[in-house]
Amino acid sequence: MTVTIPLLSLRNVSRSFGTFKAVTDVSEDFGPEELNCIIGPNGAGKSTLLNMICGTLAVSSGSIHFGDESIGGMSGDKIARLGIARKFQVPSVFPSLSVVENFHVSASNALSANELDEILSTVNLSVDRDTTASELPHGKKQWLEIGMALSMQPKVLLLDEPTAGLSVDETRATSEFLRTLRGKVTVVVIEHDMAFVRDLKAHTMVLHHGKVIASGSFEDIENNDLVRDVYLGR
Ligand code: ADP
Ligand code: MG
Repeated sequence: MTVTIPLLSLRNVSRSFGTFKAVTDVSEDFGPEELNCIIGPNGAGKSTLLNMICGTLAVSSGSIHFGDESIGGMSGDKIARLGIARKFQVPSVFPSLSVVENFHVSASNALSANELDEILSTVNLSVDRDTTASELPHGKKQWLEIGMALSMQPKVLLLDEPTAGLSVDETRATSEFLRTLRGKVTVVVIEHDMAFVRDLKAHTMVLHHGKVIASGSFEDIENNDLVRDVYLGR
């Protein structure tokens, strides 16, 4: 019998700011090489949770395991070296470098020509490979940044609202290419665009006031009465 071991595992993870509880008792497994999505209204605690996974924020209590390693108290650098890459909500690229140069600078190990081509084609930037980053439109900057995270050849890719400010077509293209990462890398994506989440067909967890109120397939989430009340029905 094959046993599936969770790659990224959260147990009773909480985070307070003073007396305010931003994240309370989140327990969730993000399966290896799966697409996972975290949704929830503004202020639900999504970014706080992602910040704890990548080590930018310490957990107040609870544990985070990556395989056998407890990463709950590790520095961001150390977590990145374990293979957890993260794209922030606001794009940050090297503006004066070309797309390809941005990938090379981000890469933890030198990229082969094949690896580079694969990343370029994954994030739809093959034709823009020599374009200076500052000249890319906003949507392509978001893709460039996802490509930079992929250049680290991570085991886990964390994305905070990658479709912020994207057009409908760009949003659809983003869910299409993220789906191609299934089976290659564990993806955890924060999102509030419902059309995008529906397209993604990911394992979805709903946060509300810092607590998980539902988790499962998008269909499970969509038909959950509590989720409809607090989020989808708004
Ligand atoms: P989301 O990403 O779901 O919109 P956040 O995780 O950014 O939500 O924030 C969750 C809650 O925690 C919000 O009420 C926010 O104001 C609060 N919060 C986040 N970061 C801090 C901080 N550094 N200090 C105080 N409160 C914070
Ligand atoms: Mg956020």
